[in-house]
Amino acid sequence: MAGSFKGDGLIFTLMDRITFMDIHPLLEKSSRDHAHLCPRQILGVRLGLMGLTALGFVEPPPGKRLLVILETDGCFADGVIAATNCTVGHRTLRVEDYGKTAAVFIDTLTGVAVRVAPVLNLRERASLYTLDEPRPYFAQMQSYQSMPGEQMFTVLPVGLRTSVEALVSRPGLRVNCARCGEEIMNEREILRDGLVLCRSCAGESYYHAEQEPVTSRQEPQKERSS
Ligand SMILES: [Zn+2]
Ligand SMILES: [Zn+2]
Repeated sequence: MAGSFKGDGLIFTLMDRITFMDIHPLLEKSSRDHAHLCPRQILGVRLGLMGLTALGFVEPPPGKRLLVILETDGCFADGVIAATNCTVGHRTLRVEDYGKTAAVFIDTLTGVAVRVAPVLNLRERASLYTLDEPRPYFAQMQSYQSMPGEQMFTVLPVGLRTSVEALVSRPGLRVNCARCGEEIMNEREILRDGLVLCRSCAGESYYHAEQEPVTSRQEPQKERSS
């Protein structure tokens, strides 16, 4: 089922099955919670379908087989979610915020991973594809729905710096941080000098405390009437 890789995996052919596919249900799904449809959602839908195709899927695989790592959030992300059914809630979607409308698609069964990104001159290509629409925004809206995927994206096989097993991790495991005491799930703890630490206490925190922790005051014990 996995992609049609040849030889060392660097050369592979892509059948853009989605060129003739009706993407409107996916666009409707993407824009449902958005109150608007925009070029970035369409781009996300198309890129999501391209990622599926590159891994050899004709539709989103069941369960947690597909893991998608998005390189930005926003409207683009909603398009990819609509196309792949991968979500943060299902632990099948991650965001590594590089501010890029690109994503890596990982078949967790085979370990095959591909990065799909827009071609560098996508906007120019889009404006050439819809010549009767001079307004770039609307030209993109139209072109992104009809351009062949191969003209929109580059697809590159990639290796992951973190193993698929570590990325997926074992859900349900729980330990407590030796410093702050908070619970850490899914093997996200860090072992340092023999201590189990959360990422914050290990110095990787994305925030710093502005004041001492505020804990809820304990309810005074009600006196029991005997
Ligand atoms: Zn938008
Ligand atoms: Zn901690």
